[in-house]
Amino acid sequence: MNDTFKHKGLRQKLVKVLINKGITNKAVLKAIGHIPRHLFMDSSFLDHAYQDKAFPIAADQTISQPYTVAFQTELLQIKTGDKILEIGTGSGYQTAVLCELGAIVYSIERQNELFKKTSKFLPKLGYRAKKFVFGDGYIGLEEEAPFDGIIVTAGAPFVPKPLLSQLKIGGRLVIPVGDDVQMMTLFIRKGPKEFEQHEYGEFRFVPLLEDKN
Ligand code: SAH
Repeated sequence: MNDTFKHKGLRQKLVKVLINKGITNKAVLKAIGHIPRHLFMDSSFLDHAYQDKAFPIAADQTISQPYTVAFQTELLQIKTGDKILEIGTGSGYQTAVLCELGAIVYSIERQNELFKKTSKFLPKLGYRAKKFVFGDGYIGLEEEAPFDGIIVTAGAPFVPKPLLSQLKIGGRLVIPVGDDVQMMTLFIRKGPKEFEQHEYGEFRFVPLLEDKN
């Protein structure tokens, strides 16, 4: 587990790239400038860790593009101590960003291989999610609801109802919705049955799949 000056330098360059692409939230940029993304990737991709690109990880999944991670995290508007549910733990990189922002994180992953690997790996870097769950994000995490924020990091063909109902009033759901291409969508809960909806352009994610594997 090596984090060298070279890595640190490349990270600061990545932060500049994200600023140029329009990311402004200081805490989000600081988190990305701090987290050793190369340690979340397979060794064959180490040289590419600080490019603004998605890369393959285990179980045919991907570590999201840094810009996408930053964009979704900005939309959550996290305050220290916020309770955040993440759907799609994957490599754990997004989880680490949420932890850096002071969130209390609950993270669900449906691939057992990734669930086991990442729930062991993140604490070694000092990132302690409140709970890692091996399960199906379509149903959310009723026993820990309500949440200040919910972030879905896989492409959802539709908006799962349980995720909307597990938000606090004022809570935010950030979810890419669509099949081949997804519209980044933000729902803000205004009342028991009232939701405000905003759209933020197209992104591409691996699909949100049903059931565990
Ligand atoms: N945040 C991750 C993104 C990984 S890709 C990262 O940056 O590394 C999306 C992840 O969502 C994959 O790990 C995939 O297995 C997981 N996933 C897909 N459908 C899911 C579901 N229904 N419930 C939980 N996780 C799911």
